[in-house]
Amino acid sequence: MKNSPIPTEVTDVIQALEKAGFKAYLVGGCVRDFFLGNKPKDWDVTTDATPEEIQKLFVKTVYENTFGTVAVINETTEDESLRNIEVTPFRTESQYTDRRHPDQVLFSKNIEDDLKRRDLTINSIAVSLSEDAIKDIIDLYGGFKDIKDKIIRTVGNPNDRFNEDALRILRAIRLAVELGFTIEKETYTAIQSHKNLLKEVSIERIRDEFTKLIMSPQPKNGLMMLHETGLLEFIVPELEKGIGIEQRGTHIYDVWEHLLRSLQCAADKEWPLEIRLSALFHDISKPKTRGIAGDVSRGTKTYTFYGHEVLGSRETRKILERLKFSRATIEKVVKMVRWHMFFSDTEQITLTAVRRMIVNVGRENIWDLMNVRICDRIGTGRPKENPYRLRKYKAMIEEALRDPISVAMLKIDGKQLMDYCKIPAGPKIGYILHALFDEVLEDPKLNTEEYLQKRALELLSLSDEELKKKGEEGKERKEEEDQKDIEDIRKKHFVS
Ligand code: ATP
Ligand code: MG
Repeated sequence: MKNSPIPTEVTDVIQALEKAGFKAYLVGGCVRDFFLGNKPKDWDVTTDATPEEIQKLFVKTVYENTFGTVAVINETTEDESLRNIEVTPFRTESQYTDRRHPDQVLFSKNIEDDLKRRDLTINSIAVSLSEDAIKDIIDLYGGFKDIKDKIIRTVGNPNDRFNEDALRILRAIRLAVELGFTIEKETYTAIQSHKNLLKEVSIERIRDEFTKLIMSPQPKNGLMMLHETGLLEFIVPELEKGIGIEQRGTHIYDVWEHLLRSLQCAADKEWPLEIRLSALFHDISKPKTRGIAGDVSRGTKTYTFYGHEVLGSRETRKILERLKFSRATIEKVVKMVRWHMFFSDTEQITLTAVRRMIVNVGRENIWDLMNVRICDRIGTGRPKENPYRLRKYKAMIEEALRDPISVAMLKIDGKQLMDYCKIPAGPKIGYILHALFDEVLEDPKLNTEEYLQKRALELLSLSDEELKKKGEEGKERKEEEDQKDIEDIRKKHFVS
């Protein structure tokens, strides 16, 4: 399929179905994204073939029973979105008694039925393909126009559609935020009046939509919209406790606004989920820990939030566990919330304090914690941290993290040396190690067990005095190199 932005892998699937006498269309999110000029995350095909008929047409497929979806597997492509093209028989809406799952999955022979059961107009356009172009666009609900006008609107009556499956409420908001669309009035009103239904939706589905919203480019807007529609109450009510909690001091925003701004900073920097969640939750317990300080009558009133990071880490754990985030995500975010209050006056802080910090939050999290701090600061409305200080702090972290230059880097250790040279423990062994290390510093290629053993025997034949001299020279050189290493780190960060 030359000259077309629809990948060959996708056209091939559609053509194979059509050649076998079936109807086949691209449908759903991929058509929406394609018309928006965005790269679809995945390509979905719908057809009048049965799962068994689909399976027969392709070399490698995986049949996932619940919705009759057959994944056509393509192992040769590098593109993640094409490795697994999902082909689903036309479906028709059945009852949703529990508001979670359709009571049964009913297949249909008509594309019209399949489009009718989809959630939003922008998600219910079907497209058929010829070999090198779009053949036909089936757009029964004005989806194309809504894409053009940037409107989120349900297919059919929003009250009915939300009653069938309440997750659609959240999908509507998530997609509005992700795409920067406006929710059409009737749909919006129905979202507000059906918000209680969210209680019946499984927490995993809620979490997945919430995550997509957090990972979108404008999560601050997303959370504001969740609040305005009353949905946040069913997802993370703890956040709403921060509304109107003024902070004073360096803070001009209330806790809610500060947390949203911190999160937005993480999104602006395109940082990963764990940093975004930490930014969003780092001050979650400020409302519970607020105390008054200063003198109210003299107008010097301020607030304290002692221990908010300790309580906050516990509250964060509870929230993330309730939302069933993965163990790894929970542990990481909880740690970052717990340790976000670190003292960073580089004039006063010692390397020991930095080391302690790294032990607390974990080596693997220290750089992310620095980024949470950047979010925290930007979210306060203050400019970036004094650039020198920040660089100095980073240099200190690198210094604390680095392995010192030492004889432990040799491919042979004292014990092996004693065995090999058949001499007991004593200063001689130390001299030989340092002399060997001196050579390896000069030429790292020499750091092999074979060479070091050979060289050790040669050194052993030297007089005690000569060996001592060599050993001491080596030790001095090692210390110089170690110092140089630290200086290199400082230079790299332009600090002294
Ligand atoms: P994304 O870009 O996140 O993948 P999407 O709209 O493609 O968004 P999917 O979960 O991949 O979301 O769903 C594919 C399609 O299935 C949707 O575009 C929509 O047509 C339909 N769909 C998904 N969830 C629902 C639902 N709860 N009710 C009705 N139709 C749905
Ligand atoms: Mg999709």
